[in-house]
Amino acid sequence: MDIKVSRTEKSRLNVVDYDHLGFGKIFSDHMFSLEYSGGRWHDPSITPYGEMCVQPSLSALHYGQAVFEGIKAFYSKDGSVNVFRADKHHDRFNRSCERLCIPKISWEDFWDALYALVRLDHEWVPKKRGCSLYIRPFVFASDPFLGVKVSDTYRFMLITSPVGAYYSGGPVRLLTAPEYVRAFRGGLGCAKTPANYAASLMPAEVARKKGFSQILWLDGLEGKYLEEVGTMNIFAVIDGKLITPSLEGTILDGVTRDSAIKIARDLGVVVEERRLSIDELVSASKEGLLEEVFGTGTAAVITPVEEISHKGVTIKIDGKKERRLSQMLYDEITGIQYGLKQDRFGWIRKV
Ligand SMILES: *Cc1c(COP(=O)(O)O)cnc(C)c1O
Repeated sequence: MDIKVSRTEKSRLNVVDYDHLGFGKIFSDHMFSLEYSGGRWHDPSITPYGEMCVQPSLSALHYGQAVFEGIKAFYSKDGSVNVFRADKHHDRFNRSCERLCIPKISWEDFWDALYALVRLDHEWVPKKRGCSLYIRPFVFASDPFLGVKVSDTYRFMLITSPVGAYYSGGPVRLLTAPEYVRAFRGGLGCAKTPANYAASLMPAEVARKKGFSQILWLDGLEGKYLEEVGTMNIFAVIDGKLITPSLEGTILDGVTRDSAIKIARDLGVVVEERRLSIDELVSASKEGLLEEVFGTGTAAVITPVEEISHKGVTIKIDGKKERRLSQMLYDEITGIQYGLKQDRFGWIRKV
């Protein structure tokens, strides 16, 4: 891909406070764009990060035909930049695109774009452990048209953001929302698309006002089985076994979820991908068999859950077993990401 590059005249890097990054608030100097029209992708460019012109009738703004990804790049101890599982994210990006009728992007174009942007802004990759460069690929329908139909034109973009921890407050408290549903089978639940987030905002706001970090979504049919947390997949350790909801079309096929499963199996842990009901969690907790609950996601990495509240019943996960498995998974995953542990699964690509 022949990318037209116009560099910024003045980098903003020197004004960034790398000790207080937060999540997704600061953007690096450049952005990547690729246009789709006439049945093909064309005009790849890198330009200074900043405002862009779109029509008020831009169809993605009205009907939500859009898809995104979230990938992380890490400063490795050998001074290079490690991008984590970009091929798996690209795979899911195209699967999401398929569900939203958006034309796919080849691996070559996807990686060329990511490589060129991260390379140009490599100085933005935080050097501190626990911090990383969050890469946000996204694509949106760009027809200036108010009729409801599949758009003929699209823009694919990449922006990057130096980030710290997503949940800076440590273990999180989750609330179920029996009166709301995130996704039904046959819907958009397994696509990384804005509509799923739109559906989750109001219940999440209610949860936040009650002092919880997020909603723990239950299945839409029976309101019984755990689904995910909306930004994270969910895992429970019951009696030494690692259990996570199976992929049945309503939850996201998380890259961190997959990494956690592969590492756990590699370490000899029994992993079960199956339906897991809230009742099972409650009874495991009563019997003292609920050892850990945690969420997984690119932004949140491995985030311990200390409490789940469901219809007035509170499940406390006190972590008295020192959150052994989640800590081990966190150490393994971040060890590979920062180049401190051997990349034995071939998950790292260097920039
Ligand atoms: C991105 C996302 C996750 C986490 O997936 P990762 O690939 O691990 O980052 C989980 N649930 C939803 C709805 C998401 O959008």
